[in-house]
Amino acid sequence: MNALTKPENLSTREIQDLDSAHFLHPFTDYKDLATRGARVITKADGIYVWDSEGSKMLDAMSGLWCVNVGYGRKELADAAYQQMMTLPFYNSFFQTTNVPAVKLAARLSALAPKVGDRSFDHVFYSSSGSESNDSNVRMVRRYWDLLGQPQRKVIISRQNAYHGSTMAGASLGGMSGMHAQGDLPIPNITHIEQPYFFENGLPGETSDEFGIRAARWLEEKILAVGPDKVAAFIAEPIQGAGGVIIPPATYWPEIQRIVDKYGILLISDEVICAFGRLGHWFAYEKFGYKPDLVTFAKAVTSGYIPLGGVMVGNRVAQVLIDKGGEFNHGYTYSGHPVACAVALANIDIMEQELLLDKVRGEVGAYFAKRYAELNEHPLVGLAETSGLVAGMVLVKNKATKERFSSEDAVGMLCRAHCFNNGLIMRAVGDRMIIAPPLTMTLSDIDELMRLIRQALDFTLRDLKQMGRV
Ligand SMILES: *Cc1c(COP(=O)(O)O)cnc(C)c1O
Repeated sequence: MNALTKPENLSTREIQDLDSAHFLHPFTDYKDLATRGARVITKADGIYVWDSEGSKMLDAMSGLWCVNVGYGRKELADAAYQQMMTLPFYNSFFQTTNVPAVKLAARLSALAPKVGDRSFDHVFYSSSGSESNDSNVRMVRRYWDLLGQPQRKVIISRQNAYHGSTMAGASLGGMSGMHAQGDLPIPNITHIEQPYFFENGLPGETSDEFGIRAARWLEEKILAVGPDKVAAFIAEPIQGAGGVIIPPATYWPEIQRIVDKYGILLISDEVICAFGRLGHWFAYEKFGYKPDLVTFAKAVTSGYIPLGGVMVGNRVAQVLIDKGGEFNHGYTYSGHPVACAVALANIDIMEQELLLDKVRGEVGAYFAKRYAELNEHPLVGLAETSGLVAGMVLVKNKATKERFSSEDAVGMLCRAHCFNNGLIMRAVGDRMIIAPPLTMTLSDIDELMRLIRQALDFTLRDLKQMGRV
């Protein structure tokens, strides 16, 4: 009898064997995974997940930046069930619509704050962040075509940005490994350096001075490309997958000045930063800039079901609407009724439990204070937070800021100690990052910090034994 027809539960080994025999995971070295066997996650509740061996882990990554209201929320399961029984699916291609998609669009429009002359009264739906950024590329080009400036095609992005994994998403992103394998970027996408002060700040330069200098790389690029050829600039408010790179306070205002000066569109990719991660429904509000398009996905449903989209600002929406003509783009699942119903229930939870107020208030402040204490640890070069997202760089020498070499694989070492001791924390090179559920209590934060400190201690012990520090 093989594992598939076995009546009782599969053993971990059997699941791992079936996994490597049939499931090609995203961003994975298949040969390597087959020798190790995947960790099998079997259930979750609150801020914890369990694996098939019974290990309980505090999920400080909220799945993958998604599960902002925590696991095990019956309200979301009920919303999906009710909607599936009423209308599980219908398309919105042929001048048809559905009630949850309409209600969610109106609700998101109300939640997206007006800023300056920008308002966000329209939503374009997809099922993921990647698709949403593909939609952005299509929409930006359509916009300039309709305005009689079809030569404006170039979209400027940043090195080490993450904007998804489709052809356009990966092209907009600035991950060299992704570009290398896909013959990317596609034409008319170009990149500037990221605003990473710890790495790129000059000796004696303040972070505010660096922020201005980094923003001006955009202006230099616009001038190099030709201002009449540039369509848009895309950026994450805080780079997430790139390692939680928090820009200096001067960065966004200077970016705004530059995009205004040249009249180019600004796309804010808030797939991580929206829906409470930084204490706001949308993160542009926190930084005070004025985007034209805002990408969302992940936490809009707390990851319970796939949904993504773009908040389309009035500047773009008005042109698409007033000029008429069909927009030849969309997805089977644009405005999926079940996904939209779950999103509405997710927003209800965030409002009822005042999760955004907590991130902006007591919970966020306590998280920032406790996380800052990690700066005392000998391995930590700089530990920083914003809202409920945090990153730290691990260094060989605190005084000189000397970094580890990539062969030291210090991030992977630390991550292994996290996993083996009940904590899920992600490694990006030599940076360790977290984005815990917004439902964290103060005592949950204490437990999280205890686990992080323990993992850092074990990592330091290993590095000493190996003679690496
Ligand atoms: C995760 C992410 C994406 C891609 O979203 P998918 O749902 O994986 O396609 C895009 N942009 C940002 C900023 C992200 O963090």
